Amino acid sequence: MKKQLRLYNSLSRRKETFTPLSAGQVTLYTCGPTVYDYSHLGNFRTFLFEDVLHRVLLWAGYRVKHVMNITDVGHLVSDADAGEDKMEKGARREGKSVWDIAAFYTGEFERDFFDSLNALRPDVLPKATDHIAEQIALVQRLEDKGFTYRISDGVYFDTARVADYGKLAAVDIDQLQEGARVEKNPEKRQPADFALWKFSPAGVGAAQRQMEWDSPWGKGFPGWHLECSAMSMKYLGETLDIHTGGIDHREIHHTNEIAQSEAATGKPFARVWMHGEFITVDGRRMGKSLGNFIRVADVVARGFDPSAYRYMTLLTHYRKPANFTWEGLAAADAALQRVWRFVASAAGRQAELKDTAVLEDAVRDFEAAIFDDLNMPQAVGVAQRVMEIGAGGGKDFLPAAATLLKFDAVLGLRLAEHVTGAAQVDVPAAVQKLVDAREVARATKNWTEADRLRDEISAAGYEVDDAASGPVVRKKS
Ligand code: AMP
Ligand code: ZN
Repeated sequence: MKKQLRLYNSLSRRKETFTPLSAGQVTLYTCGPTVYDYSHLGNFRTFLFEDVLHRVLLWAGYRVKHVMNITDVGHLVSDADAGEDKMEKGARREGKSVWDIAAFYTGEFERDFFDSLNALRPDVLPKATDHIAEQIALVQRLEDKGFTYRISDGVYFDTARVADYGKLAAVDIDQLQEGARVEKNPEKRQPADFALWKFSPAGVGAAQRQMEWDSPWGKGFPGWHLECSAMSMKYLGETLDIHTGGIDHREIHHTNEIAQSEAATGKPFARVWMHGEFITVDGRRMGKSLGNFIRVADVVARGFDPSAYRYMTLLTHYRKPANFTWEGLAAADAALQRVWRFVASAAGRQAELKDTAVLEDAVRDFEAAIFDDLNMPQAVGVAQRVMEIGAGGGKDFLPAAATLLKFDAVLGLRLAEHVTGAAQVDVPAAVQKLVDAREVARATKNWTEADRLRDEISAAGYEVDDAASGPVVRKKS
């Protein structure tokens, strides 16, 4: 009998005891990055909360099938269906093709998230552009059932046909849609109606789109909510267990995903919806379009290990707003270094450590925290207490270290690497030279050269993390 995992469901607006549709197996869909620019620490706050969720589900003993999409098409600058296409805008900005832009920023996202921030890889990372046929099929299904209508710029979903439209949204959907719109579309029947398929602009002076596809309704591209419905149903079935995203997705994107999915299938789409709150900088939301964003590379350039950001995100509950400051990151980094130093004291005692029983009370407290709607601040508090118990290196040290290592399945702070010294491997002299040269470049704030050297180190098959104690070199996996 598994312990009870409680999760806050945005749909019911309360914490519920979680039980998956099929025993022992959870289907999880998380809205992924739009790859027209680098993902920033704001995006990663949401993605990290989702990674913690994935890890907590594993801790609870479930098999997890996790899908995270890559949005590489047709995502407009506004939440409504007007305005510029983000991907095409990114391509123009950099004088590259949309396809090159998508490939480049997808690679950067994967490096930052999986390599630097130590996130678990979802089972599938499907791209919207690889699923155009599935999206067209979904629109056809909706058309056959009479949920769509056609106007001059596309095929739209008729929200008046859905009795419970907007059930997820916490505010009046009509007002929100009106407010968010860049330009009113007088042809729409209701303000909340949204595009399923947009026609490529035609006529004299129309900007040429780089991404467009043939469809039964003419050349064009999918509306931006469509991909998540089509891909989650393809990989996870018509009803999935948990669907997540940032809080900004609740009112429009997820509301529309629900409407079109449930209209098409007649079944509930996702049983639990979870939303992460935003992180701000100087009180303003961090956003790609606002140009105030901080990247993982900026964190590294300031001499922090990316894990310090991961640790920092654990210190605020995912449903509470957070504010980013460099002082906050420095404090998180200092706390993380203490944990790393603590477990590193077990170096050379791995065999003993393996045979050491964990502190059962602490494990129970940790589990109570993570099972209470992912209360990570409380879970980190338990980890801190465990360090106090093991302080001084007495008989309680090894049990405390073993307990922290167990917690790391959820924390994801690379603790094992700091015990075995894997974080500090034997590197060939040629690579060590590059690492040393990079330290000099960093000390003189020559970031371009430091980045170039990092690339050279990477080409040699190694990666370097900048811990406060100095560079940590690892063989690439
Ligand atoms: P995007 O790449 O713009 O599609 O966003 C990816 C994810 O990041 C979405 O789930 C957003 O809700 C989330 N997000 C965007 N900005 C922030 C922020 N400042 N804080 C937390 N999450 C964010
Ligand atoms: Zn989505």
